[in-house]
Amino acid sequence: MASPALLMRVVASAYSVAEKAATIVRNVMAAGDLGIVEKTGANDLQTKADRLVQMSICASLARKFPKVTIIGEELVIWVDPLDGTKEYTEGLLDHVTVLIGIAYGGKAIAGVINQPYYNYEAGADAVLGRTIWGVLGMGAFGFQLTEAPAGKHIIVTTRSHSSTLVNDCISALNPDSVIRVGGAGNKIIQLIEGKASAYVFASPGCKKWDTCAPEAILHAVGGKITDIHGNAFQYNKEVKHMNSAGVLATLRNYDYYASRIPNTVKQSLVP
Ligand code: AMP
Ligand code: MG
Ligand code: MG
Repeated sequence: MASPALLMRVVASAYSVAEKAATIVRNVMAAGDLGIVEKTGANDLQTKADRLVQMSICASLARKFPKVTIIGEELVIWVDPLDGTKEYTEGLLDHVTVLIGIAYGGKAIAGVINQPYYNYEAGADAVLGRTIWGVLGMGAFGFQLTEAPAGKHIIVTTRSHSSTLVNDCISALNPDSVIRVGGAGNKIIQLIEGKASAYVFASPGCKKWDTCAPEAILHAVGGKITDIHGNAFQYNKEVKHMNSAGVLATLRNYDYYASRIPNTVKQSLVP
């Protein structure tokens, strides 16, 4: 087992470096020059905030825990410096999160999600930004756990990476409504705060650093996240980064959605 003392030191550090990261995210936006670079194409962007936060988080964790990504044998830290970059560049600020996930033995066991612009439209008196964190077996904190409306099927999915397959899969689930927002972190927040009943993304594109922290927090409150086939994600250091068979996540009623994913969709997405 990972030593509980070490795990809690890593979680505490992740919490504080995520808050520092949130300040950087806000400062870059306030300064006005986002320094946008296209990584693999127009749908895969990187900004100055992504770069600065990546450096800041990695440098801080490296100082505190000399082997950064791998501590001891099997503790691996997955960092998404800025999740929802596309939305960040378009001013949809509360879609943006900083994600720090901690895995042990290939399993996501703890996570921190900082939302730098939480409350940004709530007026000058509201506290800007928040940090949500969770540890498997302990619970998740920094938000009010809320169930989605009973009997309603509200699906949350990508806003900027849609495809025919993504949309066909959602249609097959016959939802009452569909929420399209940016960020994997933000979509898990929609689930744990009762805004949506399922996160459905039948496409490759999402990476292990997008799902590790969200997975730990969702699992800590009794939810479930898998690929579209129902396979659990692995987070050991050798694992491939791409979640090539998509994402299916719920706080409750996972089986309802899993049993309705069409076989044609499954056949199009190879794990
Ligand atoms: P989204 O729901 O579109 O915000 O995607 C969640 C995460 O997966 C973000 O970090 C995206 O950058 C990433 N992602 C999803 N689809 C793609 C894609 N087609 N290309 C690059 N990144 C993607
Ligand atoms: Mg991301
Ligand atoms: Mg990112």
